Amino acid sequence: MEKKKSVISQLFEYAGNHKYFTVSSWILAAISAIVALVPFYYIWCIIKEVVEVRDDFGKATHIVSYGWSAVGMSLLAMVIYIAALMCSHIAAFRVQANMRTRMMEHVMKLPMGYIESQGSGKIRKIVADSSAATETFLAHSLPDKAVSYATPIGLIAMLLIFDWKIGLICLIPAVLAFLMMGSMMGEKMQEDMKEYQNALDEMSAEAVEYVRGIPVVKTFGQSVFSFKRFKDAIDKYEKWTITYTVGMRMPMIGFTTAANAIFAALVACSFIFARNTVTDPFLYNILFYIIITPILTVTLMKVAYAGESQMIVKDALERMYSLLEVEPLREAADPKMPKDSGISIDNIKFTYDENKMNAIDGITLDIKPGEHVAFVGPSGGGKTTLASLIARFWDVKEGSIKIGGVDVKDIATNELMKQVSYVFQDSKLLKMSILDNVRMGRLDATDEEVIKALKDAMCWDIIEKLPNGIHTMIGSKGTYVSGGEAQRISIARAFLKNAPILILDEATAFADPDNEIMVQQAFANLSKDKTVIMIAHRLSTVVDADKICVLSGGKVAESGKHDELLKKNGIYSHMWNEYQKSVNWKVGKGA
Ligand code: ADP
Repeated sequence: MEKKKSVISQLFEYAGNHKYFTVSSWILAAISAIVALVPFYYIWCIIKEVVEVRDDFGKATHIVSYGWSAVGMSLLAMVIYIAALMCSHIAAFRVQANMRTRMMEHVMKLPMGYIESQGSGKIRKIVADSSAATETFLAHSLPDKAVSYATPIGLIAMLLIFDWKIGLICLIPAVLAFLMMGSMMGEKMQEDMKEYQNALDEMSAEAVEYVRGIPVVKTFGQSVFSFKRFKDAIDKYEKWTITYTVGMRMPMIGFTTAANAIFAALVACSFIFARNTVTDPFLYNILFYIIITPILTVTLMKVAYAGESQMIVKDALERMYSLLEVEPLREAADPKMPKDSGISIDNIKFTYDENKMNAIDGITLDIKPGEHVAFVGPSGGGKTTLASLIARFWDVKEGSIKIGGVDVKDIATNELMKQVSYVFQDSKLLKMSILDNVRMGRLDATDEEVIKALKDAMCWDIIEKLPNGIHTMIGSKGTYVSGGEAQRISIARAFLKNAPILILDEATAFADPDNEIMVQQAFANLSKDKTVIMIAHRLSTVVDADKICVLSGGKVAESGKHDELLKKNGIYSHMWNEYQKSVNWKVGKGA
């Protein structure tokens, strides 16, 4: 519903009382445009006087005062325009700030699952780019637009006052230019603009992926394969650009020709009207038109670009609404405290996309406090989805998940976060010192507590390697840690947080075996006395689990202890045999 409103009224929703500044900026800009035309009148007066007194220039007594009047009016126009820009900027900055705040507040309420699946880069781009586009639009484009409307009105008035016949003839190409411009700006153009933005986004995303993938490309020599998606994105963009440019060729040629043909119309007028005699007043009028018509051309060009910036901001607003339309998770009206760290899952169903198969399709599972449960199964079986539903990164579509006897929807978000630590597969470290990174687990932790957590999480060897120990800034001066090391540091975070429920998403690949052993040791240390859910991508880590759930097609296909499942001779035992073979193969190869 909101989308139907005009761009301006949508922007005004974020302006509050500052919208009066915007309106003032239009009025001031329009006044400055009209005032800016007055000097042309004085220039004309000067020329007229010079022509009138051509026999004796000593009689030209008004030239200096005309000149100063022209300068004075130009300065006045400039001052009024600066005032207009000040008003427009005050409003624009407020709108930009309000939009950012509104979007960020909304993002904070969005399901974690949505943020994870979108990637922080994309969300950041929407927040930053769409608010920046509106800032340029409100601060510069709109006052310019007011100028580009006021100037032609003033000009047309002047053209018709001096000699309406010549004025009308000059207007013919101007009207033609307007019509051409209209044909370039319609709904179709809006669609094209969106496609252009999409093609551009896709190309940049692929470029980033490509650069990130360069180490893999170099190591494995996958040149053709890795180029393909990037090349496809470039080809798509190229195709779009060429089609668009060719489509615009004729209207653009028409517009530029018509806008610049006003002068030609003037020459034609002079011929038609001055065939027999050239009177002085006629000469003066023609002189006036010679001075004034180039401004009409420039103004028409300005109007064309003002339309373009409106389309950019419309697209930016749509992107913003696409973010604001994502439903936040409902906060519990009457929050309850979980009694313990047991988890009970009752016939839950979940889908990412209503048109696709359920990612979780009827799972019932009981996890007792302190139990260690492993989720295993084929890729896409639903392990990550089930774990993220327990942490309420998404809400289930059917059924319920209870922690300590309370539905996760009835636990306050803060409380739920205190109950559950989630160690992601690709652990995210922020651009701050290791100390501060770990301290995010519990903000009031002392330095000693952080150091203990780092030691418990087997991170001390990482710290010893770094130039400034725990004070080393991640990401600065080329200080980066490997994936496994980052995961250990985030385990230290979880140590500090000390939540009773622990969800561990095991990394699928490690750069080196030492790292893998250390991560497993850190997991084991952290898991003591906690309810643990481990998303296991390899079977070596699950043998000792209290319960192993094999997830396949969004269902629990089998569950039990390692030995029980082996006896069943089902999916798990098959997976185990394959795993054993691969281990033996590796050992055999290595020997
Ligand atoms: P696993 O962790 O066992 O590999 P997932 O829980 O990641 O399995 O995936 C279960 C199903 O949900 C798969 O069909 C997968 O394609 C789909 N899926 C996972 N994440 C998303 C997402 N963010 N958007 C849409 N579909 C998803």
